[in-house]
Amino acid sequence: MNDSKVVPVAAPAASRNQPSYEIADLRAALGLGPGQPFNLGALLSNRLCEQGHGGRLALIWENHAGLRQNFTFDDLRRYSDVWAAKLAELGIAAGDRVCLFLDRVPDLYFAFLGILKLGAVAQPLFSQFMADALELRLADAETRAVITTARHVQKVRSARPRLPALAWVILTDVKPETAPTLGPGETAMNAETAPARAFEPFAASEDTPSLLHYTSGTTGKPKGAQHVHGAVLSQFATTRHVLDLRPDDIYWCTADPGWVTGTSYGIIGPWAVGATQAVFEAGFSAQRWYEFIARHRVTVFYTAPTAIRMLMKAPPPGAELLASLRHMCSVGEPLNPAAVVWAERSLGRPFHDTYWQTETGAIMIANVPGLPIKPGSMGKPVPGIAATILDARTFQPITTPGAAGLIAFRPPWPSMFRGYFKAEKTYQSKFVGEYYLTGDRGSVDPDGYYWFVGRDDDVINTAGHLVGPFEVESALLRHPAVAESAAVSKPDPTYGEVVKSFIVLRPGHAGTDELKLDIMNFVRKHLSPVAMPHAIDFVDKLPKTRSGKILRRMLRAQEWGEPVGDLSSLDD
Ligand code: AMP
Repeated sequence: MNDSKVVPVAAPAASRNQPSYEIADLRAALGLGPGQPFNLGALLSNRLCEQGHGGRLALIWENHAGLRQNFTFDDLRRYSDVWAAKLAELGIAAGDRVCLFLDRVPDLYFAFLGILKLGAVAQPLFSQFMADALELRLADAETRAVITTARHVQKVRSARPRLPALAWVILTDVKPETAPTLGPGETAMNAETAPARAFEPFAASEDTPSLLHYTSGTTGKPKGAQHVHGAVLSQFATTRHVLDLRPDDIYWCTADPGWVTGTSYGIIGPWAVGATQAVFEAGFSAQRWYEFIARHRVTVFYTAPTAIRMLMKAPPPGAELLASLRHMCSVGEPLNPAAVVWAERSLGRPFHDTYWQTETGAIMIANVPGLPIKPGSMGKPVPGIAATILDARTFQPITTPGAAGLIAFRPPWPSMFRGYFKAEKTYQSKFVGEYYLTGDRGSVDPDGYYWFVGRDDDVINTAGHLVGPFEVESALLRHPAVAESAAVSKPDPTYGEVVKSFIVLRPGHAGTDELKLDIMNFVRKHLSPVAMPHAIDFVDKLPKTRSGKILRRMLRAQEWGEPVGDLSSLDD
């Protein structure tokens, strides 16, 4: 992303907040005593009510059909209590995993807080996952309950016979007249229509598990990154300082809570600050997005480069539509320098890039308000974060400015993940000495700005979603004509990267266009839309190392027109 034609943008205004990153100050700001029990679900709802803000708007919700609903912090408190009480009644206990398999409906937010109030662990999964992707993650987490809607329940039902730990499937949109269609182990629950019930929140500590977010790696199945209630300290600090949020802001984060941005900054950070969140349960349309910002007078906007590139293709909005907006941030994939400059010219202010990942739980490197932006750079490490670039061979910090290496952080920080669920060895493999390795490569310039270079593994980042080649290749292998396959990233002007698959066919199959279509249609039933290959190439054989591992980086380099690097281990 190091672009030589970088055009500087004007230095943005400094943060209106002068926050401290001192743990003691963060605890004090959130009313937490060191070592004293607290509960994240209650902190995001009850606490605001106790402070006299119960009547303030917490959630402005709108869907694709134009249906709108507003909820106050008191609504959050009541509806999350109802959820916690219902889950307890069903026998769900502290520590149990409860999956949220929902579109962005209001019950997603209430149930999320209810799960935390109970001391159970929220496992949000993107509702567009197909049955296989869902099953893999529910089986791994030994999930006890899934909260979903009629639209998605079939996928849960089809996986259920192979999920012995799954005790309950809870539907949030079942009307009394359709309730008889509920199967065994299924129940209905909607917080707004259920009778109010008070619930005493579970006394958690900062180290109590809160969330399990699944993320992909090069090899093996997706892994569940375990987070804790105390992560809120990092999320609160960065929401104030980087996103510049205050209680009087109206904030829109476009990320789905199936991904970490949608929970850390689409639920936890903003409500810890006491800001109002706007949620738009609708697909992308530039005009509708601009109108949504105008209608709800959104002041702070957090989105992803793919969405920004899609906005860039549409006609620019009239200035009146964006009059309320004062700060915009981006995350998830490299933000093109051109996008920063375009935003300043067309939207009146630049996007501030931020960098972090599922495992870090909160923003680590950012263009904070007031820091002059170098378009294409991710900014600088936020206070309290010890970042470095390590040499890929020696794992020693690189001191030469501009030299690329591994992006690494020195723990601890409050939102650092505490492990991969049931995968201790994989967790340990992410550390070298005192450093946590992100799996990304980058460099630092002489002014201390960080620049993203690329992934250090074979994970594909398409539209900001990480896709592990394993899942794509496994889905392809289920097709009767496929003998072997490799999934790699291919550049794409809008999505940044898309999935491309190389396939070796079984004897007796001809690599025709019809077969390509058939394979595409087949995997569509197993993969989420984000993981779908955009292109398939039939090949006679795949490049492999002498030990038989597929050399995806060679195929990837070819797609990107880059040098293929050291091929000494290639089996020829
Ligand atoms: P996830 O864990 O799904 O949130 O994905 C995290 C990954 O997305 C990181 O490890 C990076 O590879 C990529 N990523 C996140 N933010 C940025 C950014 N600002 N620039 C470039 N890549 C990013």
